[in-house]
Amino acid sequence: MLELKKLRTLFELSGGKTVTAVDGVSFEIKPGEVVGLVGESGSGKSVTALSIMGLLAANSRVESGEILWDGRNLLELTLSELRKLRGRDIALIFQNPLAALNPVFTIGNQMVETIQEHFSLDYKKSKDLALSWLKKVNIPDPEARFDQYPHECSLGMCQRIMIAITLVMKPRLLIADEPTASLDVTIQAQILHLLAELKDELDMSVLLVSHDMGVVAQQCDRVMVMYLGQIVEEGPTDKIFADPKHPYTKALLRAIPVPDPSKKHAFEPLAGDIPSPLNIPSGCSFHPRCSEKLPGCESQSPGIYSVQGCRVACHLFK
Ligand code: SF4
Repeated sequence: MLELKKLRTLFELSGGKTVTAVDGVSFEIKPGEVVGLVGESGSGKSVTALSIMGLLAANSRVESGEILWDGRNLLELTLSELRKLRGRDIALIFQNPLAALNPVFTIGNQMVETIQEHFSLDYKKSKDLALSWLKKVNIPDPEARFDQYPHECSLGMCQRIMIAITLVMKPRLLIADEPTASLDVTIQAQILHLLAELKDELDMSVLLVSHDMGVVAQQCDRVMVMYLGQIVEEGPTDKIFADPKHPYTKALLRAIPVPDPSKKHAFEPLAGDIPSPLNIPSGCSFHPRCSEKLPGCESQSPGIYSVQGCRVACHLFK
């Protein structure tokens, strides 16, 4: 369905410098799968998502690699071919719904416009479809909300509306980029539950981009852990959480807050900050923060090793 092969995405800086944000990323997503892409801010998760959608900023570009959708390389499509594919085949939900909704148009206007862009429906049928989706995402009094503007709705409600606008097109793959990061914990749980229900109803695949291992653990069949533009560990969620292999994955899991006071000592914040992509450490890029580093980790990049059904980029598994 979706397959990335050695994707490399660069940012161009002033003075002719370039920064590699995504460095040789390969993975695939199969029909019906929910896959988590997890890592700290600055690890390249969102740039990977934007590369797939063809929505990179003006100063960034895919330098090499392939993004195959049903075997077609998206990097070779024209803008109009890509536009047709966005929404109906692959859709994206952003972290901040207020940035994605247009503040000068009503919710109804924005929904009807999206529906009419993709389906041959008259206004009445488009409005009925929009209202049915507002109900589906649990918006109270959909008829009243239809005529309101985004600023009249709460952030959680705006995210539900964005989900409705995105999923009304019944995409085959939803990329959800930190869909709950701007919401409080109770609303986060409701939105994640809603996404899981709609995923089953629409039989779509999901790429869930998140910095939160807890969110990924609940939602995903498979997890990919990203650090400084590379996938350092990948495998089935149960295996990754029960027996993480890469020292970075282990550190991310130790950094999940534990609500049980008797277990509070298990919580251990991740040491140090992720280095700037302008100054990527030599060898294994995790070595300055790694508690298990070996002689050679500072000078040699690790290969990717298959270990008990997972793939791990670490010299410990040579
Ligand atoms: Fe740590 Fe070395 Fe493995 Fe990198 S390759 S994660 S430095 S042990």
